[in-house]
Parts: sequence; C-alpha cells; structure tokens
Amino acid sequence: MHPQDLPFNITELPDIFTVFRTRVEASVNIRTIFHSPQRIASPELPPFWLPSLFDLGLHQASFDTRSVFQFRGGETEAWKRLQDYFFESKAVMHYKKTRNDLLGSNSSSKFSPWLAQGCLSPRCIWHALKQVEIELGSNESTYWLGFELLWRDYFYYLFDKYGTRFFNRYGIKSDKHVKHHIQDALYASWKSGNTMHDFINANMIELKLSGFMSNRGRQNVASYFCHDLGLDWRYGAAYFEELLIDYDVCCNWGNWAYVAGVGNDPRKNRYFDTTKQANQYDSLGNYRNQWL
Ligand SMILES: Cc1cc2nc3c(=O)[nH]c(=O)nc-3n(C[C@H](O)[C@H](O)[C@H](O)COP(=O)(O)OP(=O)(O)OC[C@H]3O[C@@H](n4cnc5c(N)ncnc54)[C@H](O)[C@@H]3O)c2cc1C
Repeated sequence: MHPQDLPFNITELPDIFTVFRTRVEASVNIRTIFHSPQRIASPELPPFWLPSLFDLGLHQASFDTRSVFQFRGGETEAWKRLQDYFFESKAVMHYKKTRNDLLGSNSSSKFSPWLAQGCLSPRCIWHALKQVEIELGSNESTYWLGFELLWRDYFYYLFDKYGTRFFNRYGIKSDKHVKHHIQDALYASWKSGNTMHDFINANMIELKLSGFMSNRGRQNVASYFCHDLGLDWRYGAAYFEELLIDYDVCCNWGNWAYVAGVGNDPRKNRYFDTTKQANQYDSLGNYRNQWL
C-alpha cells in the first residue's frame, strides 16, 4: 500500500494488526505497477566495469544441497519463481495448508529473499495474485498470501511510527517487564545448534548452512531464545540479521520484538512449546533427520 493511500496519519497507525487490516482492506486500493521503461538515459561512461565478488575480496557462498530452495539472485530469477509458484505448479492454491511445513520448496512462496533485495516488489506480487484469482479462482490460500504481504507492509509502517524504539530492549512497550540479559555460553549453543532441543538445533543448523529458515522455525527458535533461555532478544535478532538471505530490517526486528513480547502483539506472553511444536510440525522427524 502506498503510504499516501492509508486512511489515517502514521501517528494514528493502529498498534494491533487486525485493526489495521480491517481498516485498510475496506478502503485501500493497491496502486497499479509501472511498466518497464524501454530505455533509461544514463550518463556517457567509459566501458562499464562492475567489480566481481573476487575483486571485493569475497568468495561465492557454497550451497548446501539440502537447502529448501536453490535460491538464485536477480529479477529474472524472481519472476521465474513467481511464474512457477503462481501459474505453473499452481502451488499458491494450497498455500494456507502448506505454509507451516518445514520442508518442500513449494510449501510457501520463497519470495522473501527477492523482496528483501528489491528484485520483486510486493505490489507486483499482489497484482499477479489478482491475475491468479481471475484465471484459477480465489480461495483462502490466495487470500492468505495477500494477508502475509499485508503483515510485511504493517511492519514497515510500525517502524515509520516508532522508529528506533524498535531496537530498544523494551521495544515499543512502556511497561518494562523484560528482564533478559545475555550469557555467552547459552548464546553460542543456540547459534551453533547445540541446545537441549533437537528441533531448535535442526532449525539453527538450517539457518547457518543455507541462510534460510521457515516461518514456523523462526517463531520457535526466537521463542526458545527469549522465553526458555531467557536471553536478550536483540542478540537473537542480530544473529538473524547476520545470516538470513532475506534479512529485512522491519520484518526481522518487528517479528523478534513481537515474539519477545515487546512489539505489537496484544498478548503478553506468546510462548511456543518446543516439544509440542516439534510433535505437531515434524511428527515423523523428517525435518530433524534432514539437518542433524
Ligand atoms: C523471528 C522472525 C524473524 C523474521 N525475519 C524476517 C526477515 O528478516 N525477512 C523477512 O522477509 N521475513 C522475516 N520473517 C517473516 C517470515 O518468517 C518470512 O518472511 C518467511 O518465512 C519467508 O518465506 P516465504 O517468502 O516463503 O513466505 P510466505 O509464507 O510465502 O509469505 C509471502 C511473503 O509474505 C511476507 N511475510 C510472511 N510472513 C511474514 C511475517 N511474519 N512478517 C512479515 N512478513 C511476512 C514475506 O514478505 C514473505 O515473502 C521473520 C519471522 C520471524 C518469526
């Protein structure tokens, strides 16, 4: 949504997502996308030279073949993925049922790394989704993908409203109930996937080796970090910032603050019971076997 189309000033942005969603769904039309220009006038330059990773002293990251998706950068690849997920495999039609799966390239869209790098815009995804609904029909899955994109927008607007308060220990809350601190040994065990819980460990190893983790995994490892280990949530967010290939300031710090209980969650203690979650989402242990 374009900021100028919001039905309120940013200072009056609702602090509860559902209130925000209800108000914008009733009034905001998503603007149309621009067509690609035929040509872009650029200054005359001597023959063009772009430094390679090697020139910058970096190495090509190696791929772990177990990665849930073999991500490749750039806009062309992003459009290929969109075309496949929406129109060829049509996996979007089952999104609501599969989005919590930990394995499988089509369980969710995997658009996030391209969104984070600016190779794909949420607005173009939105309009492609409307096209899916015309061609294949709308259902709760097509609605839900748009719903998740709305969460993304919402985090951006929350950051617009609260700015750097999101990086404080107490986040955007005024009651300073968080007592977490940092302990190096616990922090190291979480990062390296050496905690007491194999479900947490599998997710942390996936993150380390592939730069990606499912949304379900992220919620669990973040909750474990804040509420089981009792560590300062900002260290967890900083580690995600370092490793995620879809790292996005507002989505990352906003979600971490939410799980830590210092963001915009109206519930105070959102806690994920790791054993219960592992039984529910990895009942046969396939995901854990994949990464451990
Ligand atoms: C602790 C934590 C940290 C996170 N850090 C990031 C981050 O740095 N970058 C990032 O893009 N997402 C982040 N997320 C949100 C979410 O986990 C990822 O967007 C999602 O897993 C990416 O996979 P996908 O593209 O297949 O998502 P899909 O399920 O296919 O969703 C489509 C798109 O909707 C948006 N979206 C989905 N869920 C969320 C959400 N909870 N919050 C905001 N936007 C959402 C994303 O842009 C995503 O690409 C985080 C979530 C948690 C719990």
